[in-house]
Parts: sequence; C-alpha cells; structure tokens
Amino acid sequence: MAMVEVAGKAWQVGNIFCVARNYVAHAREMGSRILAEPVVFLKPTSAVLREGEAIRLPSWSSDVHHEAELVVLIGGGGKDIPADGALAHVAGYALGLDLTARDVQAEAKKAGMPWTLAKGFDGAAVLTRFVAPEALPALDAVSFDFYVDGERRQHADVSDMAFDVTTLIAWISSRFTLQPGDLIYTGTPEGVGPIKAGEQLRLVLGESIDARFDVV
Ligand code: ZN
Repeated sequence: MAMVEVAGKAWQVGNIFCVARNYVAHAREMGSRILAEPVVFLKPTSAVLREGEAIRLPSWSSDVHHEAELVVLIGGGGKDIPADGALAHVAGYALGLDLTARDVQAEAKKAGMPWTLAKGFDGAAVLTRFVAPEALPALDAVSFDFYVDGERRQHADVSDMAFDVTTLIAWISSRFTLQPGDLIYTGTPEGVGPIKAGEQLRLVLGESIDARFDVV
C-alpha cells in the first residue's frame, strides 16, 4: 500500500488523478491545445515512488520523460464540491514527476489506445514529501523548479495553470467521488524531456520542498 504523510498524519494513497494539459506552453510543445474542460487520466497506486527511492527506467521504453507537477493530497472527500470551498478539502501539497514513456505514449496516441502503460508503470508517479497548505503561500504565489544534474529544465508559476486547483477539485468531483488520500497531479509546464540512467533529478518548491532522486 502506498502511504504518504503530512503534518504527522498518514494517508493511504487512493485514486491518482492526473491532468494532461494545464499549461498553455506545454500543450503547445506537445502539439495540442487547452480544451474547454480538463483532460484527466489515472495512474495505479503501484506507480507511486517516494523520496529516498531510486527511479528505475522501464526496459521497454527508450524515451522516458520528466513532467514536473504540483500534486494535491485530498484530505476531505466529496461529490460535486463547489469551487469556492474546494481548498478546504486539501490536506497537503507535494511536487511530483508524472514520468511518461513518450515513445509508448506516441504509439498509443496514434492507435487511439489508452495511456495506462505509458504513464502507469512502477515508479511513474514520483512524489516528494507533502507539506500542509498552511506552510505554503497562497497558491497563486507558488512556483516550482525541476533540475537535471543541477541544470534547470522546468519552471512553473502555479498562477499560469489553465484550470486552477479549485477548478480541478470541483470538476473532478463532479465526475468522480473524491476520497481522502486521493492525489491530483495538476499538469506540467513546458520543458519536458528525457531522463537517463546516472542522472540526478531535483524538485524544488521555495523553502518548503527540496528533493533529489537518482535515476538508475
Ligand atoms: Zn503530466
């Protein structure tokens, strides 16, 4: 069972929702665009990889990409959660990597097949530690960075999201019942690219999160 902790409380990870296109510049680099509603897919809980564990690249892909993302931990579940009360349902925030076997995803897209294999393999849901919402500034002021071997590859201002966290919680809960322990990967900014064995990855959110992961 995948567990996460925030402020001394443990949560069993439930459904892992991921938003596919949420920053305009990333949608553009993938040759797509932001639609009227969020594009949501799921990862299995077996994909969770936590701080302290090494990232093992799958043998059946030669092009695994990093997608650095803000991750929301749902503390209070619900159905049809209104946007104006949505943040009260958040137990914490982390950074994550929505690791994506881009070659396998490209084949799936071409064939009109699901993305599950490309985005759901063991270790494909990388997570830093979680911090309580009170420990962060207002979400609109939050930014984060992703580095490979000390070189910055991605930067996000959360205020640039097409669908903000409140909208995502409201929209997802209008289609799926949210449950305590669910995670939402909120989409990646531009700058996605391949990771290779031997590299060290680093996710940084202000003074709150600074996590490193070795790729083996
Ligand atoms: Zn993603």
